[in-house]
Amino acid sequence: MHRVFNFSAGPAMLPVPVLLEAQKDMLDYKGSGMSVMEMSHRSKVYDQIIVEAEADLRKLLNVPANYKILFVQGGGTQQFAMVPMNLMKNKKADYIISGHWSKKAFEEAQMYGQATAIATSSDKKFTYVPAVKHLNITPDADYVYMCQNETIHGNTMWEIPDTQGKLLVSDSSSCFLSEPLDVSRFGLIFAGAQKNVGPAGVTIVIIREDLLTDEVFPGTPTLMRYKIHAENNSMYNTPPCYAIYICGLVFKWLLSIGGLEEMKKMNEKKAGYLYDYLDHSRLFKGLVEKKDRSLMNVTFKTPSEEMDDKFVKEAKAAGFDNLKGHRSLGGLRASIYNAMPYEGVVALVDFMKQFEAKNL
Ligand SMILES: *Cc1c(COP(=O)(O)O)cnc(C)c1O
Repeated sequence: MHRVFNFSAGPAMLPVPVLLEAQKDMLDYKGSGMSVMEMSHRSKVYDQIIVEAEADLRKLLNVPANYKILFVQGGGTQQFAMVPMNLMKNKKADYIISGHWSKKAFEEAQMYGQATAIATSSDKKFTYVPAVKHLNITPDADYVYMCQNETIHGNTMWEIPDTQGKLLVSDSSSCFLSEPLDVSRFGLIFAGAQKNVGPAGVTIVIIREDLLTDEVFPGTPTLMRYKIHAENNSMYNTPPCYAIYICGLVFKWLLSIGGLEEMKKMNEKKAGYLYDYLDHSRLFKGLVEKKDRSLMNVTFKTPSEEMDDKFVKEAKAAGFDNLKGHRSLGGLRASIYNAMPYEGVVALVDFMKQFEAKNL
């Protein structure tokens, strides 16, 4: 069998024990005589899968009892619309723009009301995160929106913004379950699974119960109302059954290695090793200001586009795949989510050192 170190930003690597477990269950899930892909979402056997997945996620993140966990479809992108459609009561919301994804969310929100960019780091191409301490918040804004980890630029908002009592909404897609998170600070958190917790096709939404309402933007489709998903335990219609099952296995894997505190230590060790090399390299340069660096998506570049291309090609041939930066930004990016082993990062740095020696 041949497996590469896959540095893709998403869909991304999954833990090998999870893939092996899924393989074992493929033809006959626990004596049911069928694959999880083939079973009714209304069956007892599937019910246990989704109920356990939710309970394990609750345990991992210490989700308070007054929050619902939803499994929905449409990716992070659909949340860009669902958030304003469900939460913009005064038709006003404030957005912190720290990169590509928060900008997209901001643009989408403008279709449903008055979205205001209250902070942005676009002046330096999102190589840092704007200050979030003294935000100029709109007095009757319904919520403040942030993206916790900007996947493309490789920055993380390490400080939770002071929203002066306003509801805080976070797109946590690319750092979800990479470390503990105080859910009680947020009204709503969402995360597309394919970055750090599972296959594409399911998006996890954690929403405070008092935000489940029938007062939504006129014409909001049934399936885009959080309340409908909450009332039906994510089973108003057929959920992405198999993707939820794999997420459930990932949650169990995270619990088995010691939970999110442990995961955080491993992620800090991995990212620390790579950033330390970047800080000393004479060929490669990190793109983000030190204080705002992401532990998940490490962006960097060589002195030229040609050299970047050469690196991507040679790295791929050596078993390090998907190191090209996002098409909108260029450069290089190593996504080192939970499932990337420390050995993968050490091997990458060894390869980078050799490349540097040959090309300097
Ligand atoms: C990938 C990503 C998205 C978009 O997710 P889709 O599932 O492709 O819609 C949104 N936000 C962040 C932070 C992401 O990394």
